[in-house]
Amino acid sequence: MAENQDEHAGARRTFDGAYGFSFSIAIGLVLFIAGLIISLTLGGGTSIGLIFGIPLLVAGLIIPIFMMRDLFKTNEIKEPCPKCGEMIKTSDATLQLKCPGCQSVINIRDEKLFLAE
Ligand SMILES: [Zn+2]
Repeated sequence: MAENQDEHAGARRTFDGAYGFSFSIAIGLVLFIAGLIISLTLGGGTSIGLIFGIPLLVAGLIIPIFMMRDLFKTNEIKEPCPKCGEMIKTSDATLQLKCPGCQSVINIRDEKLFLAE
């Protein structure tokens, strides 16, 4: 029972990550192409197209990197042990740990600590 729930949480997390990854790539691509089109067509040989186009090109390269950095960032969790109340500090990248106070095995799910059976 508990194992099934763990699998669900893992699958959802992976799905969100994959979705955010392709989403940030798509945004970058759209900005990059828009910048390319504007700098090649709108200016018509003048620098107006470059003034608008180059910032879009740069944004298309930088924005996906910022979004991905956010994606891979892990949240810090600071919660008391559900059994003995000892304050436990960990990150949501951790799936399971042992309480330093009472040696209970603790599962981490949705940034909350659950006592493992
Ligand atoms: Zn404990």
